[in-house]
Amino acid sequence: MEENNLLIFDSHAHYDDESFQEDRDSLLPYLKSKGIVGILNCGSTLQGTRDSYKLAEKYDFVYAAVGIHPEEAYELNEESLKEIRNMAENFKVKAIGEIGLDYYWEENPPKEVQKDAFKAQMKLAEELDLPVVIHDRDAHGDTLEIIKEFPKVKGVLHCFSGSAEFAMECVKLGYYIGFTGVVTFKNARKVIEAAEAVPIDRILVETDAPYMAPVPYRGKRNQSDFILHIIEKIADIKGRTPEEISGITIENTKRLLNI
Ligand SMILES: [Zn+2]
Repeated sequence: MEENNLLIFDSHAHYDDESFQEDRDSLLPYLKSKGIVGILNCGSTLQGTRDSYKLAEKYDFVYAAVGIHPEEAYELNEESLKEIRNMAENFKVKAIGEIGLDYYWEENPPKEVQKDAFKAQMKLAEELDLPVVIHDRDAHGDTLEIIKEFPKVKGVLHCFSGSAEFAMECVKLGYYIGFTGVVTFKNARKVIEAAEAVPIDRILVETDAPYMAPVPYRGKRNQSDFILHIIEKIADIKGRTPEEISGITIENTKRLLNI
């Protein structure tokens, strides 16, 4: 495990995932003892959202985002939206997410179904005055278009995979940019360019656990203390110390989530 005395806020994780079934209740207290000051656990299915909510109720340093991922867009209907709205009233629910568009997988719901689910949940965020956690894969143009339809809503583009130019368009609209372990990968040139461009007060760090583990854990199950390697990489890119990046990203996350 990591020898790490930096404090970390993991702005995007899925500890409800079945890969944590065996050790979730020992791993989360361990992470807290290792300096993880906060985790935003993000729903992707309706059941995942319910489980995120339960984790936030159980652990003081875990917060929840509630919502339906674009791959599951068919799950969004009047009834599930109502359930999400009810959960969002709890004080440990800090965002609507993860929501958005994913045009990468052919078997995903059609674009129109994804867009409708995305817009309905953006509208919910606007009504509840909550930030959004956005998943955008190969859908940058349509994502931007929908973001612009809701100028009062702010949020984070999580696991950012676009260009520096796209990142800056989102920043101008008031959004934050979330960086995962991808920034430590050998072929990460495009993501590194984005990290160079984004102002330091708009950068968030995240695991997207259990996915996206940074080097030297690439391919393994990810966990929040591995974010140390993301912080070190961003410190390198920005010419700052890891301690500075740790403090700034915690502040950024708390500002966005109103914590
Ligand atoms: Zn995610």
